[in-house]
Amino acid sequence: MRKRLALILLSCVQSVAATAQQPTLTVGTATAVTGQTATGFIEVSAGSDVGTNIPVAVIRGPKPGPTLALVAGAHGTEYASIVALEKLIQELNPADISGTVIIVPLVNIASFERKVPHVNPVDGKSMNRFYPGNPNGTQTERASWAMTKQVVEKSDYLIDLHGGDLDESLRPYSYWAPTGNAQQDAVSRAMVLAFGLDTIILSTDRPRDPNAARYLETNASLRGKPSLTAEAGHAGTVEPEDVTALINGCLNVMRYLKMLAGNAPPVQNPVWIERIAGVTSETDGVFYPTVKRGWYVQQGMKIGYVTDLFGKTLWEARAPSSGVVLYVCAVPSMKKGETVANIGVVASKAP
Ligand SMILES: [Zn+2]
Repeated sequence: MRKRLALILLSCVQSVAATAQQPTLTVGTATAVTGQTATGFIEVSAGSDVGTNIPVAVIRGPKPGPTLALVAGAHGTEYASIVALEKLIQELNPADISGTVIIVPLVNIASFERKVPHVNPVDGKSMNRFYPGNPNGTQTERASWAMTKQVVEKSDYLIDLHGGDLDESLRPYSYWAPTGNAQQDAVSRAMVLAFGLDTIILSTDRPRDPNAARYLETNASLRGKPSLTAEAGHAGTVEPEDVTALINGCLNVMRYLKMLAGNAPPVQNPVWIERIAGVTSETDGVFYPTVKRGWYVQQGMKIGYVTDLFGKTLWEARAPSSGVVLYVCAVPSMKKGETVANIGVVASKAP
């Protein structure tokens, strides 16, 4: 009986700290020995289109512990999240860490270089919709496959950072997406609360098939790694408060996972969002918002309007539900069917 229990405990520890026992960890071309930070690239070779090199840092502490992956820049113009991880690579001292941190600060290089929002301009695909990827697909699919093999499979936990894109005036929030595995979901929920953003979207509509995961977070979660997604930043800006919120969130999750010393008090009384009510434009034209990110709106309230190119109002956007403006379109360019705003419907109680 006791031996059996010991075996169960041992297997739990091994699964939680999958890479802790080896002296080095290699991700792409970066090999970190204990007590060191190594940098390199996850090489995605050319296929049906050009290849790419995704930067990666591996920070390996002297003490054993789990491996946490921190990823940003699937959308290469969500700058606050990218800058947060660039800074964290420099700020994390390997000597302070138990376990290993894999940091990928910028997945979508072409989007960043060419200032193209939402997609990878090489193949026109979002780099957070094609997980687990495909080694024989276009660049986004090959890069997603490389991220699955090099980052997800080598990690025990994962945080995917985003921020409002060039055309999104966004208030900070995180996502908690339970998988149905109560033990794993309790850990991911605690990670979201430790991360500390005060608005949390409960995502219950994620895929359940790891081979059709779509999102990086889902891809990791369905492979048994407790994960979360967090967003802070808006409309191309790099505001210190957004960058700091993302950095502190990662550090607090590391404290919760006992990878850093210190406590990570969970956020008190977060606003839980049970559903997102999206508003899409019914016409092409020039968009004028009448609300700001973070505002609370009543169902039916005017949240903006679209004019023709001569200034004549064609359509008024109204809130389909009462809730908080998670983001509103930050620029006047508007096409029929594109997002005007996302309204977060507030849950009556914490899930
Ligand atoms: Zn994004």
